[in-house]
Formats: sequence, C-alpha cells, structure tokens
Amino acid sequence: MNEILKNDLDNISSILEEIKKDSIAFLNSIDEIPTSHTDQKTDSFHLMATGLGASGALDLFNSHFRKLIVSSAGPRYWGYVIGGTTPAALAGDWLTSVFDQNTQSTQGSGDISAVVELQSIKMMAELFGLPDHFNGGFVSGATLSNFTCLGVARQWAGVQSGKDIARNGMSDEIVILAATPHSSVIKSLSMLGFGSNNIVKIKADQGRERIDLFDLEQKLIEFSGKPVILTCSAGTVNTVDFDDFQAISVLKKKYSFWMHVDAAFGAFAACSDNHQHLLSGWENADSITIDCHKWMNVPYDSAIFLSRKEHQKLQVQTFQNSNAPYLGNPAENFSYLNFLPENSRRFRALPAWFSLVAYGKEGFKWIVENSIHCAMLLKNYLEASADFEVCGAVHLNVVCFALKENSKTSDFLDILNGHGKVFMTPTILDGQLCIRAAFVNFRTTKQDVDIAIQEMEEVLEGL
Ligand SMILES: *Cc1c(COP(=O)(O)O)cnc(C)c1O
Repeated sequence: MNEILKNDLDNISSILEEIKKDSIAFLNSIDEIPTSHTDQKTDSFHLMATGLGASGALDLFNSHFRKLIVSSAGPRYWGYVIGGTTPAALAGDWLTSVFDQNTQSTQGSGDISAVVELQSIKMMAELFGLPDHFNGGFVSGATLSNFTCLGVARQWAGVQSGKDIARNGMSDEIVILAATPHSSVIKSLSMLGFGSNNIVKIKADQGRERIDLFDLEQKLIEFSGKPVILTCSAGTVNTVDFDDFQAISVLKKKYSFWMHVDAAFGAFAACSDNHQHLLSGWENADSITIDCHKWMNVPYDSAIFLSRKEHQKLQVQTFQNSNAPYLGNPAENFSYLNFLPENSRRFRALPAWFSLVAYGKEGFKWIVENSIHCAMLLKNYLEASADFEVCGAVHLNVVCFALKENSKTSDFLDILNGHGKVFMTPTILDGQLCIRAAFVNFRTTKQDVDIAIQEMEEVLEGL
C-alpha cells in the first residue's frame, strides 16, 4: 500500500477523533459563525506528487478555506430554503460514509440498505399521513425528484397513445400544464425533452400563486384526447401557496391526466394539525416530490419521490437499466437500479431513517410549528413597522417583504447580508423586488428573530 495511505489507515482512530473535535467546535459556535463573507479571496492549489495525508489535508483546508465556510446550517440563514442538520441526521450521514453501501436491490444483493430505504419511504408516507399506495426512493434533491416523476409521467403519456417513449423517443403530442411551477420543474422538462417553452400556462387565481380551476378545466376540455401532465404546487417559493388538490382530484376523475405535486418543502405542512388541510386531496396525485434537506433538516443532499404503486411498471420502463446481465434480471426482484435515474448511489436513506426514528411525528410537528411561529414573529414586526411592508400573503413559513421606499430595498439587502448575522435572498413578487426570509431550520428561535430585527434596524439607520 502507498505509504501515506497506509499511515492514514493505521491512524484512522486519531483522524476521526480530530474530525470529531473539529466538528464539535464548529457546531458549538454555529450561532456566531457569519452567514456570509464579502471577501472570497483565497489560494488555489495544484495537485501534489506526494500527498499530505488526511490530517495534513484537514490542516491545509482549515488554514485556507475554513474561515470562509458560512453558517448555512445555523439559525439565521433564511435565504433560499436551507434546512439544518439535526443530531440524528448527522449521525446517519456520518455512518452512510462509513458503511459505504451501494444501495440497489432488496433481494440477492447481500446487503440491507435498499430494505432500509423502502422502510424510510414508508415511514415518511406515515409522517405525511399519506395512504399506502405510494412507493418511492431517495434522490439528490427536489430537482432530481421532479425529473424522476416527470420522466415516469412522460412514459405514461406515451402509453396513452400506444408509444414507448423510453425505447422509441419523444412524442410531441403531450401537453404540459402549469400555473406557478418551480424553476426546477421547468429545468426537468428541458432535460426530459419536453422543451421548457412548451408548457401551457394556466392562470393563477387573482392575487394568488395557485391554479385558477376554471382556467384549468377550460384547458382540459381544449386538450381532451391528448395525454396531459399537470404539475401542481404544494408550497410555492414566495408565498407558499397551495393548489386546491381536492378540486383538482375531482377534475382528475372527469378528465384523465397525470397529476404531479411538487411539495419540496410544503409537504411538511402535513406535520401540523393547523396546516395539514392545505394538502387535502394530494394523496390522489400520481407522483410527489419532497425534499429532505429542507424542512426535514437532513444534510445535503437528499430528497424523495413518491409514485403510485400502480405505476411501478411505467417507472421500471422509464429507468430500466437493460443490457447488463451482470446486474441481474429487472423482472425478478425490486432494484433501485431500475427505479430511478442513478445507478451506483450512496445509502442516502440513512440520515432520514435516523431522523424519523429519533424524532418521530411529534419531533417533526415541533420543527414545523416552530418555523411557522418564527415566520409569524417576523411578519408581525414588519406589519407594525413604519419602514417595511409585507409583500403578498404569508401562508406558512416564508415571509416576503420590502422597504416602503422600495428603491432602497436592494441596497438594504446587500448591506444586511454583508453584516453576516442573518442571510436572506431577493425575489420578484407581482413584478416588485422583495426580500425573502424562509424559516426551516430547527435551531431558529425568537431570539434569532430579535437579533435579525436589530440588524435590520441598524442597516436602515445607516441607509
Ligand atoms: C427547492 C425546491 C425545488 C428544488 O429542489 P432542490 O433540492 O434544490 O433540487 C423544487 N421545488 C420546490 C417547490 C422547491 O422549494
């Protein structure tokens, strides 16, 4: 064995101790670590002939890059929709790398990881109160989950007109309907060959981001006879608006179409008694996208897709890894190899499994309700303020706002983020530039909202 590699292997215990110490130091100071750094200058390295060993790599990383690592997993990182990492999720994630399984088959593979993955999917369906008619798997994020679901939807649409698109290529007869799709839905449609320009836009309700049901029905009548894929939203990114899944389910009975629900973070409304009604009827979907690295507080990267068990054949047609006899016969046993885009893949279910087992229904209910409570604290402050205004509705855990003197909103956000105490991101709502604060991290408290408000007031004074 190479000498340095051998030395690392002999010292694995002290290397892990060192990483553990380093990790604890980071996690214990996560409240104080900046949420952003304005100075990104750093050195670049060339490949060395002789390596430094794991400990040397850690030292080099720490001396050059560590100071630029931000507390995106901390309590005041409110940009995008960034979850944190619960202790159990971290434990599962660490072990995922230690175990280094290649999660594929439930039978004949000789390892248990695919069984644990299926169990995790089942527990997640239980967490969201979904019936037993979904199967699913883990992918790297909601983008890949949307891609996976829409890939199966494409296969379904082809079958409606007697075509096997996975084998014979694309049909241009398929109609895609959407009102307020997430950017990753559009990206997935590009990747799948639908062409992102070919989405037929449905109107949204006046002043809302949800599907106008009258317009939807008009489109369904217009395209009757063609296979239609409808992409719905369970939680839009700006106002966290939900489509009316009950009403859409009624239409689905009348006009047959594929119903896909992007519930990347909105799925977690199911964990709160006061908010689960927002999802009512989503169980009638053909496929659902849910992120784990957002509101579930599992580290990057992790999401699941759910698709109806009755669509399993379509799923396998879409992702069948054929012509590889050494990988077994797909008809014989369940294998993720033939169920989702990737072939080799990590044991990505483990951090989610640890979290589900560690915190249960009540733990996630607490996380979700705490986030919503923090969003309401910020909203209440903004509404009472003379300088800020809330933009759009606050339906759940995201607050959009702007300065009343809107020309200063952009500078305000740049300066606020530059201070490194709280991080938010810009968005456009009804044509107006706003600032978006998304609450999903389990660490966030009222105190963090107070710190953010104090920072906001300081920035305002200096503006
Ligand atoms: C974040 C998000 C996505 C994309 O998810 P990634 O995990 O970044 O791939 C898709 N849809 C919605 C509604 C989202 O919030």
